[in-house]
Amino acid sequence: MTHSTSDAGQGTWYSETLHRGLRTSIEARKVLFDSETEHQRLVVIESVGFGKVVLLDGVIQLTTSDEFIYHEMLAHLPILAHGAVSDVLIVGGGDGGMAEEALKHDGVKRLTMVEIDAGVIDFAREHLAEVNKGCFDDPRFDLVIADGKDFVASTDKRYDLVIVDSTDPIGPGEVLFTETFYGACKSILKPGGILVTQNGVPFFQAGELKATMAAFSGLFADASCYLASVPTYFGGDMAFGWGTDNADLRTVPLETLKARYAASGIDTRYYTPEVHQAAFALPAYVRDMVEAA
Ligand code: SAM
Repeated sequence: MTHSTSDAGQGTWYSETLHRGLRTSIEARKVLFDSETEHQRLVVIESVGFGKVVLLDGVIQLTTSDEFIYHEMLAHLPILAHGAVSDVLIVGGGDGGMAEEALKHDGVKRLTMVEIDAGVIDFAREHLAEVNKGCFDDPRFDLVIADGKDFVASTDKRYDLVIVDSTDPIGPGEVLFTETFYGACKSILKPGGILVTQNGVPFFQAGELKATMAAFSGLFADASCYLASVPTYFGGDMAFGWGTDNADLRTVPLETLKARYAASGIDTRYYTPEVHQAAFALPAYVRDMVEAA
């Protein structure tokens, strides 16, 4: 991440250089936080156009303006596809936005979040209440501070849904994109359980998606990905990995999804049952990455 005072505006511009040959910049009204945690550099800015922006090691993690898209699609879509999720594991997710969405479902009785960086949690508790809405205090919420790779390799608990809400495959997040890690996630799923993962923007991160899909196709009866457009993850749709041994869950009928959504009583700004179904329709360039696996 670089930052500079630009002649184009009054503020400081924070530049992300996640993708080779591309620099995306976001204008900060003010810097709210800039500190080294035990694992990463955590910067939070009040931006001109996207609300608060959280960056870890220079990579945008979320903005308060569009986090709902990412969190709704990684939480509600698998929960409503499955239909009876009770036990959820989130790997990463330190801002709390994913846990907050998942805990909206009354059927979720226990949610464990394994996050490597206590510094992110401490910050989120204090300064990102609009994202996590106090979910850390929900009696169903259980926090483990550990490397997700070690936790999934050693836990004897079993889950209906594992959500990998990780950083990109650099720094501490790198281990969460390996075949060994995915295999350990599969082994802690209950029968018919689902693994979903954040898999970047395929237009720029084709290698990442292909590698995940190759690993998933060796592990699961049904391995694919689904898509959503998150404005501040630049480069077109982002992909979420989808792995389960119950191949029916990808094609749940629309009427069933509508009934489950209505019964859940949740209110969403991006997710709808129609968007849910359409999210599995892949443009040819993404389909080819999945099929190459
Ligand atoms: N929406 C995000 C994005 O842009 O990809 C992800 C957000 S969430 C803040 C990612 C979290 O994963 C961070 O809090 C980071 O500390 C955590 N994380 C990274 N590597 C991890 C690991 N090996 N085990 C557990 N948590 C990890």
